[in-house]
Amino acid sequence: MNALLATPIAYLKGVGPQKAQVLQDELGIFTFQDLLYHFPYRYQDRSAFHDIALINGEDQYVQLKGRLTHISEIGSGRQKKLLGRFSDGSGSIDLVWFQGFQWIKGNLNVQDEYIVFGKPKFFQNNWNIPHPELLKVVPGLERKGFEAFYPSTEKCQHKGLHSKGLSKLIGNLFEQLANQIPETLPPLICTELNLLPRIKALREIHQPSSETLIKAARYRLKWEELFFLQLELLLRKGVRSQKLKGYPIKEVGAAFMEFYEHHLPFELTGAQKRVLKEIRKDLGEGTHMNRLLQGDVGSGKTLVALLCLLLAKGNMLQGALMAPTEILANQHFIGISELLREMDIKVALLTGSTKKAERTRIHDGLLSGEIDLLIGTHALLEDTVQFKNLGLVVIDEQHRFGVAQRAKMWRKNTTPPHVLIMTATPIPRTLAMTFYGDLDVSVIDELPPGRKPIHTIHRRENHRDKLLTFIHEQLQFGRQAYVVYPLIQESEKLDFKNLEDGFAQIEEFFKPLGYQISMVHGKMKPADKEAAMQEFVKGQTHIMVATTVIEVGVNVPNASVMVIESAERFGLSQLHQLRGRVGRGAEKSYCILMTGDGISKEAQKRMDTMVSSNDGFVLAEVDLQLRGPGDLMGTQQSGALALKIADLAKDGQLVQLAREKARAILETDAQLIAPENALLNQALREVLKNKPNWGRIS
Ligand code: ADP
Ligand code: MG
Repeated sequence: MNALLATPIAYLKGVGPQKAQVLQDELGIFTFQDLLYHFPYRYQDRSAFHDIALINGEDQYVQLKGRLTHISEIGSGRQKKLLGRFSDGSGSIDLVWFQGFQWIKGNLNVQDEYIVFGKPKFFQNNWNIPHPELLKVVPGLERKGFEAFYPSTEKCQHKGLHSKGLSKLIGNLFEQLANQIPETLPPLICTELNLLPRIKALREIHQPSSETLIKAARYRLKWEELFFLQLELLLRKGVRSQKLKGYPIKEVGAAFMEFYEHHLPFELTGAQKRVLKEIRKDLGEGTHMNRLLQGDVGSGKTLVALLCLLLAKGNMLQGALMAPTEILANQHFIGISELLREMDIKVALLTGSTKKAERTRIHDGLLSGEIDLLIGTHALLEDTVQFKNLGLVVIDEQHRFGVAQRAKMWRKNTTPPHVLIMTATPIPRTLAMTFYGDLDVSVIDELPPGRKPIHTIHRRENHRDKLLTFIHEQLQFGRQAYVVYPLIQESEKLDFKNLEDGFAQIEEFFKPLGYQISMVHGKMKPADKEAAMQEFVKGQTHIMVATTVIEVGVNVPNASVMVIESAERFGLSQLHQLRGRVGRGAEKSYCILMTGDGISKEAQKRMDTMVSSNDGFVLAEVDLQLRGPGDLMGTQQSGALALKIADLAKDGQLVQLAREKARAILETDAQLIAPENALLNQALREVLKNKPNWGRIS
């Protein structure tokens, strides 16, 4: 950082050690630069006035211009207050003070013209403005321009560091900096994108001269923020692919060909083919693949994964497929073994419940190279699991695995295996670009043909009888149903009771009709859980009452009804995941969202979105708007999202633009070392210095 901007804030005129401490503790302002990047959250145009007659809302600042017509004290004791009557020609309003009477009376003159600024309140059927600011109008010396409002805290306010105080400090700062605010972007970019120079943008964002310039300033500063972020991510990605060599998987190979020609159960969808091409290109280039495969629930990611694993096999490399739960790993094992039944490929399953003897056999088989493909859970990560030559790791449902765990897989071979991460929780593009900025992204945006969209309905408690009748109807057609309850740690006991009550109710209704019911929840022993699950999978039970343990990946094509209880308590992506458990067979399927009567506006919006859309990407976008990026990606990663001015939920286009620009620059100068990029290189380093968190992502 330029030395002046790096000056500790205590050295700013008007600050000193005490205030400096508060600025640090409360607002994270340590240096001149930090204060410079403490931006206003709104502005008040000082030259625009409201009409008193048009005041009709609380909590909105208004600015009035008029005359004080009367001033008097009313009430007594603690009820005492000072009332001033103020009119502007359109109407009049009371100004109210509860303290400081003497000073006010001594300084205000009835009949003088004032500018009044404050928040109107509606009290006893009248509008009034408590403790307004008043400024005497002096002809020729009227206040113009905008006042900036800064985020502050109570502790700051006690030290005089309220919005006005901060505003004053910013004024001092500009004086002290005396225009020494260096540009961080090359002139070419500024001209091409029509960006304000940095110094101008910073001035205008704090002390704006017009609405248009506020916009331009915000645009420039957002752009700068996003651009350096993308530059960093792409640089890192470039460094990785340069440094890391991967096994070249150049040949299609016999395994792939045999499967493709003789055992492929169905024609691949266009999207599956496209994604496969993207992956093949990666694998063939001799660099290391680190790719995210996004595809909605049921879009056929598993088949793509299998084909990739066969590519590895055909190139004399082993493959691994890691799933987040035992149930899912089992399902993958059964499904894939079935598909490969007639081929000479050795598949093994390794989970937490694999017996010791079997485990040892697997370890040996992996080392000798006898086993071609290992499917399993976290158990794969253990150090005892070593391969002869691991070439590709597929990780299903990535969001359940942490970064460290992924890194562990990398170390299973001297040349790190290629990594393909599959996720069914679509991430909006702008977020993906930021969170997985150093991964390549492939998207399966097409469902296999013949899928009937799932009919989604939102119902309230008073429809419960009808719900039971409806489930009964479906069971009579030979279908199966899920009933899912939330189970959240904070209210575990209550949730658990809900689940048990729900189970009892279902049993009471359906048992006498000759149907069997399973229950599965996280507190059960894994073996019992597994047994109950299997009964349902085999069709021995007809209704599965469960908590969200069934969320991920379970495949029972005969199930056609998904009832989600207390649906208002689930997030959109979770609701969508749950819904994805049905609609896997040929039958028309239903998802019924049960909620209480008085649900929040946001919950209502979630229900409406579910009812109106089956598209995971649409839902992800809505989710981002509703919850914001921090919530969406989980707290672990939200620190990285501490953007000062850009908003990943709202500035999607800008993210895209910044990424394109960053990429264009790195295309000609991959390490940012060309003389014309010296400025960028230096600016980037300064950005990085202030960002210790970044290393933990991706
Ligand atoms: P997900 O992407 O959610 O993991 P799966 O891989 O489990 O989806 O696939 C969902 C279902 O679609 C499976 O039963 C699978 O056999 C089937 N499937 C996959 N690809 C195709 C295809 N191209 N045509 C028809 N069905 C397919
Ligand atoms: Mg899957």
